[in-house]
Amino acid sequence: LVVLGIETSCDDTAAAIVKGNGEILSQVVSSQADLLAQYGGVAPKMAEEAHSRVIDQVVQEALDKASLTEKDLSAVAVTIGPGLSLCLRVGVQKARRVAGNFNLPIISVHHMEAHAIVARLMEKELQFPFLALLISGGHNLLVLAHDLGQYTQLGTTIDDAIGEAFDKTAKWLGLDLRKSGGPAVEQLAREGDAESVKFSIPMKQHKDCNFSYAGLKTQVRLAIASRNIDAKVPISCASSQDRSSRADIAASFQRVAVLHLEERCERAIEWALKIEPSIKHLVVSGGVASNQYVRARLDHVVNKYSLRLVCPPPNLCTDNGVMIAWTGIENFRAGRYDPPPPAKDPEDFKYDVRPRWPLGEEYAEGRKLKV
Ligand code: ATP
Ligand code: FE
Repeated sequence: LVVLGIETSCDDTAAAIVKGNGEILSQVVSSQADLLAQYGGVAPKMAEEAHSRVIDQVVQEALDKASLTEKDLSAVAVTIGPGLSLCLRVGVQKARRVAGNFNLPIISVHHMEAHAIVARLMEKELQFPFLALLISGGHNLLVLAHDLGQYTQLGTTIDDAIGEAFDKTAKWLGLDLRKSGGPAVEQLAREGDAESVKFSIPMKQHKDCNFSYAGLKTQVRLAIASRNIDAKVPISCASSQDRSSRADIAASFQRVAVLHLEERCERAIEWALKIEPSIKHLVVSGGVASNQYVRARLDHVVNKYSLRLVCPPPNLCTDNGVMIAWTGIENFRAGRYDPPPPAKDPEDFKYDVRPRWPLGEEYAEGRKLKV
């Protein structure tokens, strides 16, 4: 089994080729970070154009690096949601063109499920059921994975995701945004005193597993304003006093942002153990899971419950094609795929994309639990 995975749900155009035994034959990611830094955010139309410009090249490079041609593929897997509709279409259209021309089955993949399932590629012992914390720029989810395609959502964000808070903090601190904001904040935080700025932990009074990062973002913005930090002065030009004050904010923000994760994870583990007492793992994935501080703190949490933390390597935590190919392989084995699309009309837009696509049912009782 040799599967091509294609990912275009947000701002990275990615493709990869993975074998049924888990061997990664190639992996290519083309990032729009430069464009984002220039315009200060994702504009769907611009992102769509950027995907369209590079998609053929990214897929070709994945084939070349694997020393394969389309004829060697068994199937094509593609993200159909959630994400920006215009962007998803670029990937789906490409997948259908390849599948149509080479008579290959096509596998529709849920982007957030793929963030979780890729952990099974790295960790062969990771069996269902398991708990997963998925943390990225657009999502903050705690889900109980019962089986492939079967999830219970224990918590989600009521406003922003943690990655969004990292990205804005980076921007307001004048960090280099050509790479994404998260790693820049993580790096600067190492120089700072995490106890120096007193941010409050979000949603302390809500005894559930939901998240909120909008309030913390505001606290960070106010702290920056009150210290007269000017984001227009890049960190590389800041005086040493200015730099250390920015580092203190970065460290204090990161500490509290992650304390919120820790608290929610503890509760989610307690809920999850009641629903599925056999769980042994907490999977942490999505871009923010590449943060070493996040990993260390959550490792501490799972140890209390004698669970194991499973984090994919950083390049498989951020958006990538491998996770799409691998989730495609698991779905293919479960018989979940579509027959090859007609080769004649590859531009046909009647296919499904699912820009909003929840991952599983919400856990209703959880909300009523008085802890
Ligand atoms: P989605 O929300 O649809 O999964 P996404 O576009 O947010 O997708 P990801 O690559 O999964 O894409 O996550 C990117 C996010 O992860 C960004 O917000 C980025 O700042 C954050 N991130 C990446 N590395 C780190 C890090 N080391 N520390 C903190 N945040 C990080
Ligand atoms: Fe993602």
